[in-house]
Amino acid sequence: MGKKAVYPGSFDPITNGHIDILERSTRMFDRVVLAILGNPAKDSVFPLAGRLRMARESVGDMAGVTVETFQGLLVDFLVQQKADVIIRGIRAVSDFEYEFQMAMMNRRLNSRIETVYLMPSESYFYLSSHLVHEVASLNGDVTGLVPAGVQKILEGKYGPGKGRK
Ligand code: ADP
Repeated sequence: MGKKAVYPGSFDPITNGHIDILERSTRMFDRVVLAILGNPAKDSVFPLAGRLRMARESVGDMAGVTVETFQGLLVDFLVQQKADVIIRGIRAVSDFEYEFQMAMMNRRLNSRIETVYLMPSESYFYLSSHLVHEVASLNGDVTGLVPAGVQKILEGKYGPGKGRK
């Protein structure tokens, strides 16, 4: 069967930072499920169906990777998927406190599940979906920060980027 991990997040939209973490995780696990959170309470810019489509288009051909959506408790989704590892990316120090809380709570909810943190390439260390929206909405160039298909969708939403100087 091999080792299976779940990489959860909002992926609103998927960025090259997410893909960097996903690639690293496929070197450690046989199967990785990129799991997009669809909780209605959390505001997202793109609806769940759009986030799913963009993620599938961007990582659909990576060996061992599948893309799913989930609602409710992450640990319940892992049990359902027969996975026992959560993958999270960690960027600057600012991610640490929230991630530490989440990892401890998930361990309390299910002690058989471990959270593994991976660091992205330094090119993506300051990249977030939120920042991508902010730059794209001001017509800044997001080339190299998101997959080409996502860039097209952002340009459709906000207008074309001005291009790099
Ligand atoms: P964000 O925090 O950008 O809104 P998500 O909720 O989709 O993104 O994040 C899913 C996971 O991916 C989290 O563990 C987050 O820390 C990680 N992640 C997001 N962007 C990056 C990046 N540029 N480098 C490394 N990890 C990242």
